Amino acid sequence: GSQKDRVLSEEEWLKKWEMGNIGFHKERGHPLLQKYLDVLLNGRTGLRIFFPLCGKAVEMKWLADMGHSIVGVEISEQALREFFAEHGLSYCEEPVPGISGAKKLQSTSGNISLYCCSIYDLSSSIIGKFDGVWDRGALVAVNPCDRQRYGSLMLTLMEKNSSYLLVTVAYDPSKHKG
Ligand code: SAH
Repeated sequence: GSQKDRVLSEEEWLKKWEMGNIGFHKERGHPLLQKYLDVLLNGRTGLRIFFPLCGKAVEMKWLADMGHSIVGVEISEQALREFFAEHGLSYCEEPVPGISGAKKLQSTSGNISLYCCSIYDLSSSIIGKFDGVWDRGALVAVNPCDRQRYGSLMLTLMEKNSSYLLVTVAYDPSKHKG
């Protein structure tokens, strides 16, 4: 019961970033992306790859360096600025038409576009559709009451032949909180 009703607010996430309370961030990237990279790419090159709830995931840089085009979304502007700064990437920012208060931070090279807004403000008419999704720390971070909405939105963002890598866990909710 308590698991199902659990909610982490946007303010609480922003606070985590401010306090540097970001134990979820993996400085060296996720070994499972390396392991399943072939499944994600499936022999294709120059893909559009989406990173929901991206934080400052270093895998965005990895895939961009392989020639793919990256789109991420994250509510913490601090996280996105840290991403560009930590990789020494210059970027420009612009408002997002249709989403008040949202910003798009785009690498000068053009292949990494990170939206600073809630994922629920986005739609395929704004960010298009994707050939691949790397979902790590995203579905698992979504409040249980929003899972349905998140899943439906993700489906609308996928191209016909897209691949979706999801890192998830099976656990006993009575033994672990959150
Ligand atoms: N995927 C990243 C970050 C995981 S933590 C990684 O692997 O490191 C989850 C992230 O989602 C946090 O950075 C939090 O600020 C962000 N977040 C939470 N709710 C969000 C929402 N509704 N829209 C966009 N980002 C959100």
